[in-house]
Amino acid sequence: MELRIPEQVRQALSKLRACGYEAYIVGGCVRDLLLGWEPDDYDITTSALPFETMRCFAGYHIIETGVKHGTVTAVIDGMPLEITTYRIDGQYSDNRRPDSVTFTRSLREDLARRDFTINAMAYSPSNGLQDYFGGQQDLKDQMIRCVGDPQTRFEEDALRILRAVRFSSVLGFGMEPTTAAALLTRRGLLVHIARERVQVELNKLLLGRDVGRVLREYTEVLCEVIPEIIPCIGFEQHSRYHLYDVWEHTVHTVERSPERLTVRLAMLLHDLAKPLTFSIEGGTGHFYSHQQKSADLAQEILKRLRYSGEITRRVVNLIRYHSVEFHGSAKAIKRWLGKLGEEELRELLLVQRSDLLGKDPSFWYELEELDENEQRINEIIAQNQCFTVAQLAVNGNDLREVGCTQGRLIGQLLEYLLGLVIDEECPNNREALLSRANQYLVNRKQADE
Ligand code: ATP
Ligand code: MG
Repeated sequence: MELRIPEQVRQALSKLRACGYEAYIVGGCVRDLLLGWEPDDYDITTSALPFETMRCFAGYHIIETGVKHGTVTAVIDGMPLEITTYRIDGQYSDNRRPDSVTFTRSLREDLARRDFTINAMAYSPSNGLQDYFGGQQDLKDQMIRCVGDPQTRFEEDALRILRAVRFSSVLGFGMEPTTAAALLTRRGLLVHIARERVQVELNKLLLGRDVGRVLREYTEVLCEVIPEIIPCIGFEQHSRYHLYDVWEHTVHTVERSPERLTVRLAMLLHDLAKPLTFSIEGGTGHFYSHQQKSADLAQEILKRLRYSGEITRRVVNLIRYHSVEFHGSAKAIKRWLGKLGEEELRELLLVQRSDLLGKDPSFWYELEELDENEQRINEIIAQNQCFTVAQLAVNGNDLREVGCTQGRLIGQLLEYLLGLVIDEECPNNREALLSRANQYLVNRKQADE
């Protein structure tokens, strides 16, 4: 079997071999190559000890960051390659990291410490594929299976629980039954995992091709990291718009949304407060202000999972405004363009579309209205219509010239003029705007006297 690998990688492998060591590409890159995908990066595993690797790459740019754990980064023709010594992990006492690592000269031992069979293969052009644990077969069968005893492997490092679920989503693979059973019984260990790591896995899971199935099959695992979901499961909505309970609706909206992190996060969290805000009148369920309350919950969750301020702000806004209506009105849309900006307003429409696709299909005709809104945005942008103060034909200096000197008043006046332009009560030209500005100042003065 021959796999296509970049020239720099080939060079690094043959260099290590020429120095008398074994060397292979390993892990995710081998898996991806066998799947016919382009790997993001190439990891190299070798029998050389770190100092031996460094000696072998004398004259190259070498970065010594991970030497303690056996990793040396060599930059070959501009490509940084992580070269790690064959390793056995020591005891695990914190359910996450080995207390110590030991180097070994055995490839098999290095592969045995890896998480799943599909991630435990190595390859080199000279020695071919090394597959001690049936990784190739599991790739064919589309199966995630632990290397070794699943209970033990998840106890050693609970991050593997989330990795298993994430790979199931990204690759669209099923789970070998004892692996699936073990990750469910050991899911409580996820409390030991750093939230940053949880976030990384959650993001990949949400963007996976099989996100819907995985959210349904492994809801309990997700609830370990976002327990706020628990009340939504099975919560009936008593609404003619809805065929599903709150959680099932949520999953539908996630799987029908575009592969975009902010939108997927917004869908996952958009209705969390429904159980908290539920009331029933004449047999019909209501969830007054669930949008704002869900946004508040999302804020806490995203902060807890260490999302950046920017992602948090965007997702929280998308949730807070997820049911505003524009009715194809250009005026309304310009106001929202001014408030959120073009990119975020378009995202909000994606959220609304996904939300609708999670409801009873007999209401999907409302998609037309969403299309109209999008159409309006396109027109407003294409015609460079005014929806921000910066686009007005007058600025602060112009207003100063007509006698408006106070900074705060200038701001108010510009907002007032923008309102007139958006509402089409005044054209966006200098003369007309200055005359309205004058009028405003005169009226204000009279009111003061
Ligand atoms: P991705 O495509 O997300 O990079 P990957 O499989 O390459 O997936 P990495 O985190 O880059 O994941 O890890 C590289 C390799 O290291 C894995 O393929 C696996 O062999 C091993 N590995 C990573 N994390 C663990 C872990 N928690 N336990 C055991 N082995 C692991
Ligand atoms: Mg990788």
